[in-house]
Amino acid sequence: MADATVYNNLIGGEWVPSKSGKTFTSYNPANTSDIIGIFQDSNGDDIDAAVAAAKAAYARWRLVPAPKRAEILFRAAQLLTERKEQYAREMTREMGKVLEETRGDVQEAIDMAYFMAGEGRRMYGQTTPSEMPNKFQMSVRQPLGVCGIITPWNFPMAIPSWKLLPALIVGNTAVIKPAEDTPLSTFNFVQTLMDAGLPPGVVNIVTGYGPTAGEPLVRHPDVPVISFTGSVETGRHVATVGAQYLKHVALEMGGKNPIIVMEDANLELALNGILWGAFGTTGQRCTATSRVIAHRNVAEELTNRLAERAIQVQVGDGLESGMQMGPVINQQQLETINGYVQVGQQEGARLVTGGQRLREGSHAQGYFFAPTIFADVQRTMRIAQEEIFGPVVSIIPVDSFAEAIDVANDVPYGLSASIYTQDVNRAFVAMRDLYTGIVYINAPTIGAEVHLPFGGTKATGNGHRESGTATLDVFSEWKSIYIDYSGSLQRAQIDNAE
Ligand code: NAP
Repeated sequence: MADATVYNNLIGGEWVPSKSGKTFTSYNPANTSDIIGIFQDSNGDDIDAAVAAAKAAYARWRLVPAPKRAEILFRAAQLLTERKEQYAREMTREMGKVLEETRGDVQEAIDMAYFMAGEGRRMYGQTTPSEMPNKFQMSVRQPLGVCGIITPWNFPMAIPSWKLLPALIVGNTAVIKPAEDTPLSTFNFVQTLMDAGLPPGVVNIVTGYGPTAGEPLVRHPDVPVISFTGSVETGRHVATVGAQYLKHVALEMGGKNPIIVMEDANLELALNGILWGAFGTTGQRCTATSRVIAHRNVAEELTNRLAERAIQVQVGDGLESGMQMGPVINQQQLETINGYVQVGQQEGARLVTGGQRLREGSHAQGYFFAPTIFADVQRTMRIAQEEIFGPVVSIIPVDSFAEAIDVANDVPYGLSASIYTQDVNRAFVAMRDLYTGIVYINAPTIGAEVHLPFGGTKATGNGHRESGTATLDVFSEWKSIYIDYSGSLQRAQIDNAE
């Protein structure tokens, strides 16, 4: 403990300790004796200081031409590319997912930086003809001010990048409160932005716990927009608090994402997709495949082949070569997953494989859970309805394509859905009728790219989208501008009326 690095908050370009005088320790979930660092357990006073710094920086940053802001983002993308391996390794230590996936997480931040840098030279508005002579009109995006950013632990660099980069390119400044389980990757990301030339105070980091460090940000009167990713429970609370201040609140929350496997599917392809979708990131993705809706003609074969493959998944420390699945994030998550396994058995689902914590050998040092498959699951069971956020997948047999679509949509969430079929007509009906923000055909429920909108329907969100150009709508407001060069008073809807 004596050797552990102490990380301070970043406020106005300075690294400063919390005014609370308190800290917390972050551990490697694959080996809990490995300390990642000691971070500030911040409070409302720290948030006040960070918001003040962001507000002061906003006065200058909003006037920097967007193509110049873009050059900083572009340089950050280049620096991230150089640092990718180091940051990926630190991320695996910090949150557990295997190195191949943490490289992907950093890559997503790189992609987003290049994409948003491009927006610095686009950021299109509209021009439209006026109904009056000698009058010009257009719309432009304007920044909002200080953005409050609250992020989860499962994509500790990608998600901060999805939020910070569009906020910055539009001309906002920000205060970010990362998840307490994964602050280091946010530090790495923001340090890179500063090394690329981001001025002091434009991005500020305040670490700590949700209720003590996150909530003061949501309540702060000088923060007009909150961008939140996390659980439905917290998101609903954040939206409720934000509503009292009439804030813009953009929420990205959970999922209960299905893969439909029709009787005509390429089963080998579907198996590969299910394994990646369900057990990638140890099932801790908002887009993880947690339901397989299988046509009854293939359900048994699919279940047996999936079980054979699941027991071969290499589970262990994500820094070791050959590992395919790392630990879950913490003890609490382990208990949640374990609880759902018991619920599934009590409800009458058939536990095909897994279902227990792994404790042998090096597994004893961390939070490892076996890849778990339930078969004969009914659509109404809790394990088929609630987000588990772990390596647990439920196979639900159905008798028809229509029933498959109906079951897919019959959950409170609507993030991602997928269908494996060779029938182009069914594929198009699925694209139309699956009520989710993302649909995949013959690919698993994970695999989004940064230049299309990302987000979901129903309890997954509140109508906003991240990524793509759609995310600019979260971090800007439209201003419509009318320029009358006629030299006389022209009254719209009156002077040109018949
Ligand atoms: P969480 O517990 O809701 O936490 C999310 C963030 O909110 C954390 O930084 C947390 O701080 C903070 N927080 C907690 N209480 C708060 C409060 N009262 N006021 C302000 N902030 C508060 O979620 P999580 O466990 O980190 O992440 C898992 C969830 O995120 C899953 O449901 C997953 O589906 C969802 N997710 C969604 C997407 C998407 O794009 N749709 C992407 C990834 C993850 P602490 O760190 O102290 O808890």
